[in-house]
Amino acid sequence: MSHPAFGPRDGRERNARSPRAPTVGFVSLGCPKALVDSEQIVTRLRAEGYDIAPSYEGADLVVVNTCGFIDSAVAESLDAIGEALAANGKVIVTGCLGAQGNVVRETHPAVLAVTGPHATEAVMDAVHAHLPKPHDPFLDLVPPQGIKLTPKHYAYLKISEGCNHRCTFCIIPSMRGDLVSRPVGDVLQDAENLVKAGVRELLVVSQDTSAYGVDLKYRTGFWKGRPVKTRMTEMVRHMGELGAWVRLHYVYPYPHVDEVIPLMAEGRVVPYLDVPFQHASARILRLMKRPAAAENNLARVRAWREVCPDLTVRSTFIVGFPGETEAEFEELLTFLEEAQLDRVGCFPYSPVTGAAANSLPDPVPDDVKQDRLARLMQVQERISAARLSRWVGREIDVLVDKVDGNTAQARSTADAPEIDGRVYVSQARWLRAGEFARVRVTGADEHDLFADSLTV
Ligand code: SF4
Repeated sequence: MSHPAFGPRDGRERNARSPRAPTVGFVSLGCPKALVDSEQIVTRLRAEGYDIAPSYEGADLVVVNTCGFIDSAVAESLDAIGEALAANGKVIVTGCLGAQGNVVRETHPAVLAVTGPHATEAVMDAVHAHLPKPHDPFLDLVPPQGIKLTPKHYAYLKISEGCNHRCTFCIIPSMRGDLVSRPVGDVLQDAENLVKAGVRELLVVSQDTSAYGVDLKYRTGFWKGRPVKTRMTEMVRHMGELGAWVRLHYVYPYPHVDEVIPLMAEGRVVPYLDVPFQHASARILRLMKRPAAAENNLARVRAWREVCPDLTVRSTFIVGFPGETEAEFEELLTFLEEAQLDRVGCFPYSPVTGAAANSLPDPVPDDVKQDRLARLMQVQERISAARLSRWVGREIDVLVDKVDGNTAQARSTADAPEIDGRVYVSQARWLRAGEFARVRVTGADEHDLFADSLTV
């Protein structure tokens, strides 16, 4: 996922920077967690009076926030750095690729500085060294919600860094370290600031949202003078009071996740869980060293739906993991048939430099991986279409992303931005982007819903 350079938020802010402020071009690559890092850096830059350029050419230097998760992301990041060097010449690199030894410097020795992920201070130090900050106290003002790279009405909210797990296909813990949870009072304050600034949907992200607070032994923090435990359930219960949608990503199926399902049934938290199961075979899950590998995921999903029938479950799976047999792959297909998950992403296993799984025996040939991917997606398309059809005829709330004449693109509680489907709304001329609306669903396919606006 790439978020290209962007410019000032409005003309007033541009005029406040006269004479011309030092200008930083910014390129953000990678996952939502990297996007949150970018938002923090941009917020600091703006707070110190730097301007943000919409192009390399108009910038005094460029910051590239890289991704190093899989080999194609490494290549994309190295290309972006090369492009910025060619167009601008002064480039600072940050993000996951920066944590991977000398990869960046070996390919692009001309970069000014390289840091790892969530290194706002180190990036700021590098910017100060190569583009001294201006001295204008008025420019130190920054909106309390910070600067966001997503559209105005939704925002990613990172609640922790790092991960205590050691999944064998993943190198994130070696790049980002063990879990460090943010103080619950800070997280809730950020959430409130965002909602006050017009955000209608908070997307809670971390490497393992269900583990929030484990490192702090779930200690009690404070928000608005009230004690709040540093724990997922307590955090989202309070977040759900703010009046925005709260959507949970990267939740593992631990027993305590059951506690948030009643909050979803009550409408305090969006009835949506993004649970990366990755596989259904117990042996493959053990080889992957997945969190909660011993849980009965099927029973858990069924129990969740009994409490909250409107729950949407999204998941991702890997096919062709080393040693995966045809029988184990079929076990995964059977799991999908039984679990009836709403949304599924699937990836053929691809070795990541430095991952423990690379040394596992019996790699699966590429053509078999591709065949399994196609078979899985064929099964899932049918399931997704059947799951979506249950909305047809119902009146639901949607969040409007875009209005174009008499039609609008919106999302229901079942659709996270960028990864899920959309609700295409007709008779939408009275709707406004960034606001909630009530619609009647008239049709569905395997990805999207079609609806009529009830606002006339
Ligand atoms: S839970 Fe596993 S896949 Fe996710 S970041 Fe941690 S080690 Fe990586």
